[in-house]
Amino acid sequence: MSSNIKISRICDFCGNAFLAKTTVTRFCSKNCNSRFYKKKIRDKKLLKSLEETHEKLKSPKSMDLGSNKPILNIVETCQLIGVSRTTLWRLINKDRIKTTLIGRRVVIARSDIYEFIKLKP
Ligand SMILES: [Zn+2]
Repeated sequence: MSSNIKISRICDFCGNAFLAKTTVTRFCSKNCNSRFYKKKIRDKKLLKSLEETHEKLKSPKSMDLGSNKPILNIVETCQLIGVSRTTLWRLINKDRIKTTLIGRRVVIARSDIYEFIKLKP
């Protein structure tokens, strides 16, 4: 059953006042309705893309190893010299690569990595 009530509402998309037949109508026209949802989908995609970029920036894979960061952590060092963590730890335990503790983090000076690569037979 359809009611004959008219409710004054503001369109969620264009902001114009209009008369709605139900209290849940959000848009003045079909046009505004579809435009609103299209925008919503676009915004969602945009947000997803921003989140992806953010994730990539956070992940070590995208770290700029060509930069002149003077100290590197274990993961960065593995990527720089192309060895696995196991191999790196073995080298560290054999004192082939010098490490430093910053708080509880193990870091390696870039210069020490270069030194190690040069000395590697
Ligand atoms: Zn509208």
